Amino acid sequence: MANDIHVIRNASTIAGYDENRQGHAYLSDGDIAFDASGFIHVGGRYDGAFVREIPGKDRMVLPGFVNVHCHSGEEPISKGLFEDEGTAALWGNALYEYSDLIEISDSAVEASLTVMLGDLMRSGVTTLVDIAGPHDSWLPTLARSGARAYVAPGFREAAWHVEDSRRLDLTWDKSRGYEAFAQALEVVDAAGAHPSGRLGGIVSPSQVETCSAELLQAAAEAARGRNVPITVHAAQTMAEHEELMRRTGLTAVQYLEELGVLGEDLIIGHCIFVDGHSWTRQRTDIDLDLLARRRATVAHCPVTFSRSGMVLQSLGRYRRRGVNVALGTDSYPFNMLEEMRQAMICSRIAGRSVFDVGTADVFEAATLAGARALGRRDIGRIAPGAKADFLMIDLNHAAMQPVYDPLRNLLHCAAERAVEAVYVDGRPVVEGGKVLHLDYDGALAELQEAQDFAVRHLQANDPAGRSGSLLARRSLPVM
Ligand SMILES: [Zn+2]
Repeated sequence: MANDIHVIRNASTIAGYDENRQGHAYLSDGDIAFDASGFIHVGGRYDGAFVREIPGKDRMVLPGFVNVHCHSGEEPISKGLFEDEGTAALWGNALYEYSDLIEISDSAVEASLTVMLGDLMRSGVTTLVDIAGPHDSWLPTLARSGARAYVAPGFREAAWHVEDSRRLDLTWDKSRGYEAFAQALEVVDAAGAHPSGRLGGIVSPSQVETCSAELLQAAAEAARGRNVPITVHAAQTMAEHEELMRRTGLTAVQYLEELGVLGEDLIIGHCIFVDGHSWTRQRTDIDLDLLARRRATVAHCPVTFSRSGMVLQSLGRYRRRGVNVALGTDSYPFNMLEEMRQAMICSRIAGRSVFDVGTADVFEAATLAGARALGRRDIGRIAPGAKADFLMIDLNHAAMQPVYDPLRNLLHCAAERAVEAVYVDGRPVVEGGKVLHLDYDGALAELQEAQDFAVRHLQANDPAGRSGSLLARRSLPVM
């Protein structure tokens, strides 16, 4: 076995896992030994056999980030279209009227997935949850990337429809929903049985308001029978909140509790509009206690939401109430380090205090909280026995200088610029900023064509028949 062991020699800084504190702690000037099965030795001196030595001087070694919520699909080609748009009558949200207009050709889904994976891995993500529609290249591309990945094939019975930019309507087709549910379970099972050992499946009813109570319960039952997590978008917009209030008189969190879906294995996409949020009409504050008591996870994705003027109130408050908040990137820029920075800034604005959340809290959310969400103790930490998923940060990078607290420098300043290498299962997946096992540049070249196609089809997909240039207005007038 010694012939597979690699050693990072004398790493200047390691964010190791401290069993006593049940959290991360700095270790200085130590060795890390690992092989394909995981970490063997962390900190101090490693005197055992090895095949390769990696210099650790002026390097910081961090556990790989766990991204519990992202979407490949059409998201990577939506970049630059609707960042300044929104439906005024739907609290300024662009989701229902605009995002739904994007059409992606079958040939572009693989390129789209490849670009997302490349961007995520380059920002230190080693485990991700991809919520998307199933396609033939999904599992093969994920496996080839070298990342650890969970597929969450979405299914729903109702489609969104916005007529005249006024209100959100739902068009129900129950049999289509159940067909997609059956197909999703096949993909979940195939991922769990994948020979790479790095893939898994998650049962993913798309949104709380687009699935019936019966389907949500059937989904939870299917997940629990398989011992896999469940994920659903809930409390993600005010339009959804109002729809559920009208239908059930309950907030999304209370509704999921009533259905028996709320539990330790549930990852709630976004969970912003809980009863205590200042935008709602509710005057109660019980949702966070419910989430904490059931040990459900919130997948917090601040970048896309704050872009639309919406913010979780607040990450620090959720954490203090005992809610497991993990991080996701949702859509582009698919940059986990930017997401972490935004999580910190948004939390401090929403919490109206610099003390609302700290650097260590956000780092915990991006690692241990994500691992907890997926029911795993072997990722998101650097400790003997855990998977060798980690990233190496170049402390000599200009953006990291001068160094007093390297994690702060990374989150507040350098972000992915200082990421030198990323490893999953002890194998490099990113080196020198380059994605190693996917044709990232080739996929990027395909995206332009895919976006041109999407823009050409905007008008045909718009119920009001507006032109593409009117729907996706350019930020500057064209001379
Ligand atoms: Zn989402």
